[in-house]
Amino acid sequence: MSDVYAEPTTGADPTDPATLARYTTLRLGGPAGRLEIATSADEIVRRVREAEAREQAVLLLAGGSNVVIGDQGFPGTVVLIRSRGFRVVAEDADTVTVRVEAGEPWDDLVAATVERGWSGLECLSGIPGSAGATPIQNVGAYGQEVAETIVAVEAYDRTEGTVVRIAAADCGFAYRGSIFKYSDRWVVLSVDFRLTRSPLSGPVRYAELARALGVEVGDRVPLDDARATVRRLRAGKGMVLDAQDPDTWSVGSFFTNPVLEREAYELLRERAADLGEPPNWPCPGDTVKVSAAWLIDKAGFGKGYTGPEGVAISTKHTLALTNHTGTASTAALVALAREIRDGVNTRFGVTLHPEPVLINCTI
Ligand SMILES: Cc1cc2nc3c(=O)[nH]c(=O)nc-3n(C[C@H](O)[C@H](O)[C@H](O)COP(=O)(O)OP(=O)(O)OC[C@H]3O[C@@H](n4cnc5c(N)ncnc54)[C@H](O)[C@@H]3O)c2cc1C
Repeated sequence: MSDVYAEPTTGADPTDPATLARYTTLRLGGPAGRLEIATSADEIVRRVREAEAREQAVLLLAGGSNVVIGDQGFPGTVVLIRSRGFRVVAEDADTVTVRVEAGEPWDDLVAATVERGWSGLECLSGIPGSAGATPIQNVGAYGQEVAETIVAVEAYDRTEGTVVRIAAADCGFAYRGSIFKYSDRWVVLSVDFRLTRSPLSGPVRYAELARALGVEVGDRVPLDDARATVRRLRAGKGMVLDAQDPDTWSVGSFFTNPVLEREAYELLRERAADLGEPPNWPCPGDTVKVSAAWLIDKAGFGKGYTGPEGVAISTKHTLALTNHTGTASTAALVALAREIRDGVNTRFGVTLHPEPVLINCTI
């Protein structure tokens, strides 16, 4: 079993729509109306068009690591994205542009680029899921995000019925967002990344990573070291999928870090005066990003906090909500999410927003 995709257990019929739980890292989600596998870009388009012809709603599902699917499941057609591979489509003395099929497991791609001496994705090591889903929420970690290396996305436009190339500048990349998130219009078929030929990482931007590497922020390190250290840090927080570790049966961070207007930030400071300065990062437009994990912890929801049916905050990371027993329902998970959101709001007056895509459920 791959450590990047939740795949059905051996012997199971992969197109049995009985439960989507086996395709999500939370191990949650009811039945699909119909379940189909697409192993190439052409097949993805064909499956989507066929579902449209049947007048069925379509859910694209790849690694299932950023979705919360309701207990009622999804009554339409679920298309499992399983196209694989990447190839070089342009290169010069300094850079190489790789075109990656949507279903390529993300961490396999990162490993391959590090091995070849292509710099640009190394700090995104260990993130579960598919390459095609990375533009959806502009995947980021440890000071890197895919918006920095994506040059174009090839997508099927369901509104126009055509395949188009969308330049990075038109993807609307933002913190954990893009034009693709929460849109039914676009089906990502492949993604082009422009990487730098270099045995060294980009400048290390994240203080925790720099400390773990024993370097200063801004230094560069061998790609292998960056990848290994990021994976080690992530594993310590339950942020690398591990079938044996229920702390990883999550969607990673359940809430995004709130970005506050200056005035709202000052109000937060007042309400948190007894706790010292909230961890924060200045952002463009005089806004301030604050740590959702800090807010949650200080509102009384520490690591290991348990909700109904044994759903729990990970024992390793305050931002990860887990189906810790493997037997809970989506209703229980969203009840815990709601309790945390409301508790943070009552204590600090800040509203947390979920990072994953919620399908047929709501918090
Ligand atoms: C343990 C853990 C750690 C994580 N750490 C991080 C992290 O550090 N940083 C981060 O940004 N994220 C993180 N995540 C979230 C998640 O891994 C990423 O968002 C990932 O890119 C999702 O990929 P996926 O293939 O699993 O998408 P899925 O969960 O299958 O889909 C997510 C959304 O994208 C849509 N989608 C999927 N494929 C396509 C496609 N080809 N075209 C159009 N829409 C599509 C789906 O319909 C859905 O709306 C983590 C998750 C887990 C479980």
